[in-house]
Amino acid sequence: MDIEAQLNDVVNRIRLAESRADRASGAVSLVAVSKTFEADIIRPVIAAGQRIFGENRVQEAQVKWPTLKEETSGIELRLIGPLQSNKSADAVALFDVIETIDREKIARAVATEIARQNKPVRLYVQVNTGLEPQKAGIVPDETTAFVVFCRDTLGLPIEGLMCIPPADENPGPHFALLAKLARRCGLEKLSMGMSGDFETAVEFGATSVRVGSAIFGTR
Ligand SMILES: *Cc1c(COP(=O)(O)O)cnc(C)c1O
Repeated sequence: MDIEAQLNDVVNRIRLAESRADRASGAVSLVAVSKTFEADIIRPVIAAGQRIFGENRVQEAQVKWPTLKEETSGIELRLIGPLQSNKSADAVALFDVIETIDREKIARAVATEIARQNKPVRLYVQVNTGLEPQKAGIVPDETTAFVVFCRDTLGLPIEGLMCIPPADENPGPHFALLAKLARRCGLEKLSMGMSGDFETAVEFGATSVRVGSAIFGTR
């Protein structure tokens, strides 16, 4: 299959999963994860109508996306990889959504930049649902207090929660936990599900899925 056919296949599978879960058609947005792929590979996906993209490194995105965003209006770019505070100015300038707010230092740095640049950036808090030591994200027990701190103390526009379940575990319980934490925080958006498990994520209430290799091929 070519890349357009793979994109269409993923979109169709999302629509079918929505229908199986009795969710409205279009309730789930597709974030096409274009990390490691160059602009020439991404262009046909934009031409096929895809508008929301995810990248996991600020520097890599800075090489590709200013030009791609100029070429086509309505592109929404999301940062889905860890953010260092010394990159927060660049991240706020380039990205429309940052999904990886997970500690006080980064929340403060992003708040400062949003104010300084007067740039409306939508934000997600990343939760380490599997308590994996090597993985970014706030632990589940601290999530509610952290969201309250971000929203009420810093005034940040937190829109939802994001997670990456452990690679070797059944993702369902992790998606269910993220949904439960979001309800507790009064948040409506859930960024969860990747190429291997996005249909399961839709079943558990994902409002956006982040799909890379099923569209672009193996990295
Ligand atoms: C790479 C990446 C994805 C996409 O992974 P695939 O398995 O290629 O679909 C999703 N989310 C995050 C945070 C990623 O880094």
